[in-house]
Amino acid sequence: MTGAPLVVLDHVDKWFGDLHVLQDINLTVDRGEVVVVIGPSGSGKSTLCRAINRLEVIQQGSITLDGQPLPAEGKELANLRAEVGMVFQSFNLFAHKTILENVTLGPIKVRGIKKEAAETRARELLDRVGVGHQAAKYPAQLSGGQQQRVAIARALAMEPKVMLFDEPTSALDPEMISEVLEVMVDLAKRGMTMVVVTHEMGFARTAADRVVFMADGAIVEENTPDEFFTNPQSDRAKDFLGKIL
Ligand code: ADP
Ligand code: MG
Repeated sequence: MTGAPLVVLDHVDKWFGDLHVLQDINLTVDRGEVVVVIGPSGSGKSTLCRAINRLEVIQQGSITLDGQPLPAEGKELANLRAEVGMVFQSFNLFAHKTILENVTLGPIKVRGIKKEAAETRARELLDRVGVGHQAAKYPAQLSGGQQQRVAIARALAMEPKVMLFDEPTSALDPEMISEVLEVMVDLAKRGMTMVVVTHEMGFARTAADRVVFMADGAIVEENTPDEFFTNPQSDRAKDFLGKIL
């Protein structure tokens, strides 16, 4: 089944009270594909990401990962959260654990990996994201860019099938943005399946296979980055691009 899409959202609807926050969302993400989601603030991008690892529950439609419906609870839900790695705007590392412990905790607790093997793998991943020499430190001793790279390593340590990034560079000082984007570009090149909410249009142009433009809870437009940026179809997309480019 390697040809089947990895993530499928089929006629997904969600409301927060009266607010129809996700409106008939149909989206497929193929294996190895990088989908960049852009759109104005409040358009439902974070809710969409959160729905894919069931941090938000949808009210209509279905979401499947690797052909399976998202599990509702228990061990299966914990496994889902491992298989759908998520990196948020705020780094939310465990403040009272070392960098190494931050990366080994999930594999040991959720995946049942032995401590020594988890540490070996964690050190490889920390090296890969350029913070191997910081393994014994605590999060507060690292810069924002370094913490965000640890957050990426922590998600990767769970061997996720897909990685979701929700504005991973929005809280960073400008000089730290590129060091995080470089790690994400490298991940994309290695074939990771990724859904990335970002305002970094340079990243979208370089790394995205597809751009999805959302407005008011709906997917308004979907295209290759080249087509989307040079030839947006909808007024909403033209208006949005006019404001940010
Ligand atoms: P985006 O990430 O595109 O900025 P969000 O998915 O965060 O958009 O939010 C979409 C809309 O849903 C916004 O109007 C937001 O205020 C609202 N919203 C988000 N989370 C909640 C919640 N837990 N309860 C009620 N409304 C929410
Ligand atoms: Mg958001």
